[in-house]
Amino acid sequence: MSRFLSERYSAIEPYTPGEQPKNRNLIKLNTNESPFLPSPNVIKALNETEISRLNLYSDPDTREVISAIAETLGVNENQIMMGNGSDEILAFAFEAFCDKEHEPCFADITYGFYPVFCELFNLEPEIIPLKDDLSIEPSDYFNKNKPVFIANPNAPTSLALSLPQIEEILIHNRDNIVLIDEAYVDFGADSAISLIGKYPNLIISRTFSKSRNLAGARLGFAVSNPDIIADMLKMKFSFNPYNINRLSIIAGKEAMLDAEYFEKCVNSIKETRGYISAEMRKRGFAVPESKTNFIFAKHNILSGTDYYNKLREKNILVRHFDKERIRDYVRITIGSREQADALLNATDEILKGC
Ligand code: PMP
Repeated sequence: MSRFLSERYSAIEPYTPGEQPKNRNLIKLNTNESPFLPSPNVIKALNETEISRLNLYSDPDTREVISAIAETLGVNENQIMMGNGSDEILAFAFEAFCDKEHEPCFADITYGFYPVFCELFNLEPEIIPLKDDLSIEPSDYFNKNKPVFIANPNAPTSLALSLPQIEEILIHNRDNIVLIDEAYVDFGADSAISLIGKYPNLIISRTFSKSRNLAGARLGFAVSNPDIIADMLKMKFSFNPYNINRLSIIAGKEAMLDAEYFEKCVNSIKETRGYISAEMRKRGFAVPESKTNFIFAKHNILSGTDYYNKLREKNILVRHFDKERIRDYVRITIGSREQADALLNATDEILKGC
């Protein structure tokens, strides 16, 4: 730290992203990326003509990608805004809607960026423990009278609330923001998009990083009522009006419109997830029923730290959180079928030594 850093940021512990190793021979199952290439239409569209336009600023209104999302999800364009990843959408929401009179609340085990935003924006969140089985109890979120942040499906637990459960939470929170972080929703959970018209305090954040195979493009978006979108746009235009670069706007549009490729990729992930979950259970792991592109697995003998370290020695990278309640688990991204088999073979070797 230099002596110039503002006092108000000196104590912040920044978010630690999953490792992006240089060694390309590693089997990388640690950051919930897609194992599949972007849609062929994305690859085709990012041509020399588009690259040569990089001397010009991008469209601050990101119209092309917004119109593709509006068409695909059946919402109006003024109900959508784009973020540089959904991380930026979340940042704008914490910034715009939380303060000393509106401290946020969220689960004890959830996306690790929420507490970081609280530190950044000087907020003191109310932390709501998950149940013993790591699921969310909807009634714990009733009548909060403060902004509610819920990842659905939740990460890293991989578990989801149903649409009626989400609606119950909304019925009991009419006068505060409810943000549902749907980063993983395409892998089998119910989206709350259909509730947008009914609950004007609902914000949904989504990402292109997982089910649209575009983690490197940094594209996320919010869907909400136009007034809330206008508030969040105020944050964006006070911070970085050109937050989405030219190439990502095009990539996002093409990925959103290629429904066939999207479905093919998501179905393949779901199939591999079923396979790997069943095989892991045979090997003594507890694997909750995942609605995401990862599983959260705990072995009956092998500790989470040991399993993580031993996989790493075998060039397989997964994610381990050294955190109370989940120390015994590892989070494993669902990659290709070949990667799943490599993981299972490595696991067999590790278990032989136990
Ligand atoms: N929400 C959740 C629950 C996540 O796990 C992630 C991925 N790390 C994000 C949001 C942010 O993803 P991105 O910024 O790539 O859209």
